[in-house]
Amino acid sequence: MTSALRTAVEFARAARRVVVTTGAGMSKESGIPTFRDAPNALWANYNVEDLATRGGFRRDPALVWRWYAERRTMIAAARPHEGHIALARWEERCDSFVVLTQNIDGLHAAAGSKNVVELHGNIFRYTCFDRGHDVEGPFPQDATPPRCACGSLVRPAVVWFGESLDPAHLETADAALSSCDVLVVVGTSGLVYPAAGFALTARERGARVIEVNPEQTPLTEIADVFVPGGARTILPELVPQTG
Ligand SMILES: [Zn+2]
Repeated sequence: MTSALRTAVEFARAARRVVVTTGAGMSKESGIPTFRDAPNALWANYNVEDLATRGGFRRDPALVWRWYAERRTMIAAARPHEGHIALARWEERCDSFVVLTQNIDGLHAAAGSKNVVELHGNIFRYTCFDRGHDVEGPFPQDATPPRCACGSLVRPAVVWFGESLDPAHLETADAALSSCDVLVVVGTSGLVYPAAGFALTARERGARVIEVNPEQTPLTEIADVFVPGGARTILPELVPQTG
């Protein structure tokens, strides 16, 4: 065990109130490619403006629907890895435990985590494009985008580029970060909002910040300890094995 990991384990063992924030790196180890590593060359000619913005959907809803349908199929086949499972077990032993995830795949819940805030939404849920209300799925994935009862198109319930995060989610995050002993940042660069802000908030309020990433990031400066490695290997070692 490296000394960084030993230090992180000490922080983790002492913590009763824990917040974990996870990003694309966490899901990547379950075989879910990041937005930029699209699995299919067909998508190489499109960018985020085409596929993950309101303007893109307005211009070509069928294209965007097809992109998400493809990702949904891929994600439905993915399974939580040992890192997801380690977090779910850790939650059982803590007084308070919140996962703040940027991932839209539902893998934390699938692993058994109960207190999960899906900051960027969930690809298996749907909302009304015009009015923003929830729409009950599922829908045929091969067809053109379905219509809501109100006549609007239906879209995936994910936060697109240029859209704001749910203020209720941010309030929950802030409350958890204000009272936690430890924040663990996993698989997110820190450049991506909101992970960097979370780390700063947690530190200001006196929590220890542990970063788990394959390589150093802009966040590393803020973290109390940087543990190099993937979530799948490091999290099972980090999490206290006994009460
Ligand atoms: Zn509607």
